[in-house]
Amino acid sequence: MHEIMPDGGMKLLKPAFYATFCGMEKQTCDLLVTASRLITGTEQPGVDGKAGVAVRDGKILETGPAEKLEAAWMPAVRRDLGNALLMPGLVNAHTHVPMTFLRGFADDLPLMEWLTKHIFPVEAHLTDRIVSLGARLGMYEMMRTGTTAFVDSYLLEINVLQEAERMGMRCAGGEVLFAFPSPAYDGWNGAEALYREQAARFGGCGRVQLAVMPHSVYTTSDDVLRRSMQLAEELDLMLHIHLSESAGEVGQCRSLHQDRRPVAYARDMGLLNERAVLAHMVDVTDEELETVAASGAAIVHNPVSNLKLASGLARVQGMLKAGIPVSLGTDGACSNNSLDMFETMKLAAILAKGCTGDATAVPAMKALGMATVEGARIFRTPGLGTLAPGAPADMIALDLDEPNLFPIFNEVSHAVYAASGKDCVFTMVDGRVLYDDGSYTDGLYADTAAEMQDLVEWVKGKE
Ligand SMILES: [Zn+2]
Repeated sequence: MHEIMPDGGMKLLKPAFYATFCGMEKQTCDLLVTASRLITGTEQPGVDGKAGVAVRDGKILETGPAEKLEAAWMPAVRRDLGNALLMPGLVNAHTHVPMTFLRGFADDLPLMEWLTKHIFPVEAHLTDRIVSLGARLGMYEMMRTGTTAFVDSYLLEINVLQEAERMGMRCAGGEVLFAFPSPAYDGWNGAEALYREQAARFGGCGRVQLAVMPHSVYTTSDDVLRRSMQLAEELDLMLHIHLSESAGEVGQCRSLHQDRRPVAYARDMGLLNERAVLAHMVDVTDEELETVAASGAAIVHNPVSNLKLASGLARVQGMLKAGIPVSLGTDGACSNNSLDMFETMKLAAILAKGCTGDATAVPAMKALGMATVEGARIFRTPGLGTLAPGAPADMIALDLDEPNLFPIFNEVSHAVYAASGKDCVFTMVDGRVLYDDGSYTDGLYADTAAEMQDLVEWVKGKE
């Protein structure tokens, strides 16, 4: 075999290239997924026509035109999704996934009343079984609606980490830290021992990873906050906290902490640095956003929860203008009441426009980035949130035969403004298919749903 050179001469090709060139020798891969359209989530131009992703050992090998991938790879398994849009899985950067067991339990209440009079009294009776059950249901809902990774804090969180490990979802989670005893520990020393024990199993940047989770400035203390960041630094973990969620929180913080607002107080407790992820940040000033931007901390915007609890409207434009990384979360299923990140993504985009009177605020591509790569930063995993070669194979597909997705001028526009989570027909995490064509691949959803319905009477008796 010879190749003709530019000068018209010929050179002998190496045997390996010859074999590939003739289609005789392809490299093997575990899976080749193909679909009619593709969003890679990278700067690379999209693919015109049928596209695909080749996967081996949980990682993306190549993304591109289906024909080219078919020529290059010999997959153990082929999955052609037909008329579908392949895209990176969404990242829910703030939730409390076991709270699915309280979905619809206490609605139409402001944050502090909702939390102290309804949620905390039931949570005082939590068991491992309830947390595990809630986590399972929440993960089914997320994989059904296109979310592949989530950041979680709750009580008895070890059950969430274990279920995520078993069910295949990507999770960064940690036991929620208070200044008062919880079902998982009786004081700071107990909490710290718990974290050290769990770090031995879930430390690092694996699919399921530990993060330090002080609940908020109003449920902790100077000591808990300072030690939380020290622990995060020592164990090399991210830290996640609710901050400036409502005017009520700000007023309480000023009265308890020498007139300091939550951002100033958090800064004084050593909480603001590049390890910190701040959930909500609804009641903030421009100066506070500059403080956060300078610290390197990130923000998670939770528009549905903020609206439902009447906490207010976060100033996302101001956050972005200040240069702060902003990701998106649903918050728990009791203050939302769903875990559908497509709903959150659309709301984040259109609320920003409505709040500023600027239709160019948070365009579709930006909203998609907030729901993918920005949330993925928390996991410190290269490539996560994109379908780039080398990235973890976390991807979803939307059914483009649905009437709400016809016609198509722009795939990103549809993903943000026209799709709902229920259009998702395929969910893969780390190269493992979790949901495909209407079925959860572990086959255990019906048992979880039945067990959850049985819990309703128990919850009613605990209020
Ligand atoms: Zn929350």
